[in-house]
Amino acid sequence: MKLLYTLFIFLLINTVQAQQTITRDPFITGMLEEVSAANLEQSVRKLVSFHTRHTLSDTLSKTRGIGAARSWIKAEFERYNKDNGNKLQVQYDSFVQPADGRRILEPVVLKNVVAILPGTAPADKRMLMVCGHYDSRVTDVMNSKDFAPGANDDASGVAGVLELARIMSNETFQTTIVFVAMVGEEQGLYGAAHLAKKARDEGWDVHLLLNNDMIGNSYGMETDLKDNSRVRIFSEGVPAAETKEQASLRQATGGENDGNARQAARYIKETGEKYVDHLEVKLVYRKDRFLRGGDHTPFSAQGFTAVRITEMNEDFNRQHQDIRTENGFKFGDLPEYVDYTYLQKITRLNLAVLANLGLAPAPPQYPVLITSTLTNKTALKWTAPGGKAPAGYYILIRETTSPFWEKKFFVAETSAEIPYSKDNYLFGLQAVDAAGHESLIVVPKPGK
Ligand SMILES: [Zn+2]
Repeated sequence: MKLLYTLFIFLLINTVQAQQTITRDPFITGMLEEVSAANLEQSVRKLVSFHTRHTLSDTLSKTRGIGAARSWIKAEFERYNKDNGNKLQVQYDSFVQPADGRRILEPVVLKNVVAILPGTAPADKRMLMVCGHYDSRVTDVMNSKDFAPGANDDASGVAGVLELARIMSNETFQTTIVFVAMVGEEQGLYGAAHLAKKARDEGWDVHLLLNNDMIGNSYGMETDLKDNSRVRIFSEGVPAAETKEQASLRQATGGENDGNARQAARYIKETGEKYVDHLEVKLVYRKDRFLRGGDHTPFSAQGFTAVRITEMNEDFNRQHQDIRTENGFKFGDLPEYVDYTYLQKITRLNLAVLANLGLAPAPPQYPVLITSTLTNKTALKWTAPGGKAPAGYYILIRETTSPFWEKKFFVAETSAEIPYSKDNYLFGLQAVDAAGHESLIVVPKPGK
């Protein structure tokens, strides 16, 4: 009896602790409702209709090949622009990709398709970027002729980006949002590498890049796993572009799990699960799948915060496969195998993150963890960001062994002292406005 009673109290405490107050911004939920599975399916099927979107395929035909595909994507962005009050800047990001002796045998003109929704705060130079890749392939990566539908890889990602541009370009955000359909992913991430280098050379402030590559498959055939309620976020740990000073600070503070991409991944989990029903955002602490890469990789290499968003289960009978039937089984990345309501959920996840960040104040500036005296309390200070004024700040705390933030203290001032030792906990800081839009998380640096 006593044991049962103890168990009951234990369950009660745990239930109470598990309760969370969720307040969704009706403006954002309104946009989420606009994300249409039917539109997403239409875009995927249209992209498949170009027969192949291989990077080296035909550029002259109006109906087949990569040239027709990129014209259609550009025309779609232009259509949203016209319908939504001409706020989008639609353009090709064209460049000559030299031969690499491997997957590009002679120089070729490649074009990313870009639509920019300028932010309304001129002083706020931050850019939020979201991308998918529109090129496709079959088994032989050099085959530019055969039917390469690429419905899930990655018409799903491009369809998501188009739907986000359609909905978001009808609204205004203080931060600039950039929608991109990348080229050349399958040949060696060439479109993303070009755009990431251009962003670095031209001093763009890329605050976050969300790379959506394969976001529509909910069935893993080999393992017979059906999963339309989870999605993976891959984030790098030790930053690829880390300087010597950053490396020694990381080693001195145990910051190997607290790089910008990890913080962004935690942010995506919190925001996505707050706004999208029946979606668990699973964080994988690895820059991409085992030994693999994607269009976020060149952005990480240039020092930007970039993550990959991908379905929970990949289906290798569909990915990069020649379209064929063997022993009654149909191989190939065909549109009938895409789960469009799952794709809708992942598009909503992107929208929730972009909208929250697009409306949030910038993160706290010059965050310092004060180390002038030895104490078991932790004193923090920072400066208010320019642009939209925050209503206050969150101090985030977690155990050093915990993957996620565990406690969140609200303070209205730009300094605080809390009774948790910096020897035993990790700390982060966020700015938040009165409506609850939170900035990305910054880690305070030791200082005076
Ligand atoms: Zn892909």
